[in-house]
Amino acid sequence: MTVNLLDLDSAGLTAFFAEHGEKAFRATQVLRWLHRCGQNDFDAMTDIAKSLRGKLKDIAVVAPPAVISDRVADDGTRKFLFDVGGGNAVESVFIPEVERGTLCISTQAGCALDCSFCSTGKQGFNRNLTVAEIVGQLWQVRQALGADPGQDAQDERVISNVVLMGMGEPLANLEHTVTALRVLLDDNAYGLSRRRVTVSTSGLVPAMDRLRDECPVALAVSLHAPNDRLRDELVPINRKYPLRELLGACQRYLEKAPRDFVTFEYVMLDGVNDTDAQARELLALTRGVPCKFNLIPFNPFPGSAYRRSPAARIRRFAEILIEAGVVTTTRKTRGDDIDAACGQLAGRVFDRTRRTGQQILRLDRVDLCT
Ligand code: SAH
Ligand code: SF4
Repeated sequence: MTVNLLDLDSAGLTAFFAEHGEKAFRATQVLRWLHRCGQNDFDAMTDIAKSLRGKLKDIAVVAPPAVISDRVADDGTRKFLFDVGGGNAVESVFIPEVERGTLCISTQAGCALDCSFCSTGKQGFNRNLTVAEIVGQLWQVRQALGADPGQDAQDERVISNVVLMGMGEPLANLEHTVTALRVLLDDNAYGLSRRRVTVSTSGLVPAMDRLRDECPVALAVSLHAPNDRLRDELVPINRKYPLRELLGACQRYLEKAPRDFVTFEYVMLDGVNDTDAQARELLALTRGVPCKFNLIPFNPFPGSAYRRSPAARIRRFAEILIEAGVVTTTRKTRGDDIDAACGQLAGRVFDRTRRTGQQILRLDRVDLCT
C-alpha cells in the first residue's frame, strides 16, 4: 500500500521507516525535505541513499490536496480553494501583515455542529480531513507564496502564524488535528511556536482536555452568548456542554497553555447578542477566566437569518468590555473584493444540486481569523 508521507508526523515517519528496515534518522531527513524545503521529488532528496529513494517511489507519495483556485485581494489577502475529492472543497486564507503572516486552515469538509449563524454548519458534515489534507494546505500555500524549492521554511517565515479557524470543528477531528499540529510545531518541519498556532473550538469539552494533555497550543473559544439560554440557540453543542462546563475546561486548559489567556470569539448579531446588558452579563460570566475578546462582525450569507450589528453598536459593546479591563479587539474585514472578507467560512463545496451536473463554485466569505 502506498503511504502519503504528508499524513505522518515524526513518530509516524519513524515507525514507517522501521517497518521498512530503515534507521530512525531517515524520518528526520525526510521530514526536513518535505516541510522545511517543500520538496516532493524523492530524486532531489540528495542525502538519502539512491536505493532508498528508489524504494520510496514504490511505497510512498507526497500528495497535498490540489489547488482549485488561488485569488488575491487588493489588500493582499489571498484565498485558496483545495479539492479534497468527492465534490468537496475546503479553503485556506493567507493574511499578510507587517509583522506577521497568518494562515487560516480548515480541518473538516463541512461541519456537523450546525451553529445557527454559520454557513459551513448549514452545509452539513461531509467528512474529516486527513492529516495530509490539513498540513497539505500549509505545504501548498507556502509553495504558492513563492518559496524557492530548497529554501528553508523556517528562515523565510512568510507564514508565521497558523489558525485552525477555517471550515469545520478541529476538535471534532481531534486525532488528525493533533498529528497535524505536531508537524506544524516540529523543529524539523515548520517549527512554529505553540503561541503562534491557534485552535478555535465551539466548545467540545472532553476534546479540550485532550488537546491540553496531548498538544497544547493557543486556544480560541467561540462563545457568542452570555448565557445558556441564548447559547443553546446559537451554538447547539452548548446543550451538551453548557457554559459552566465550558468555562471550567478553559480554566483547566490554561494550566498547560502556552499563553496565559483564552481568546473568546463573539460574533456580533444585530439585536440578538449585542446589547449593553449582554456585554455586562458577559463580563460577569467570564470573570474567573483570564481572557481576551475578539468581536467578529457577522457576515451574512444567502439564507442567513441574522444581520450584522451596526458599527456603533459594536464599538459600544467593545467599550464596555475594555472599560472593565478586558482586552478586546474587533476583527477587521479584509479581502472583500475576493469574497474572503472576515466572517463567513466558505470553502464551499461544489453545488451538486445543479441538474447540469456541472460543478459550480460558490465562493462565499471566509473567516479571517486574526
Ligand atoms: N468550528 C470552530 C472553528 C471554525 S469557525 C469554531 O466554531 O470555533 C471560526 C469562527 O468563525 C468561529 O468563531 C465562528 O463562530 C465564526 N463564524 C462562523 N460563521 C460566521 C459568520 N457568518 N460571521 C462571522 N463569524 C462567523
Ligand atoms: Fe461548525 Fe464552527 Fe461553524 Fe459552528 S461555527 S457550525 S462549530 S464551523
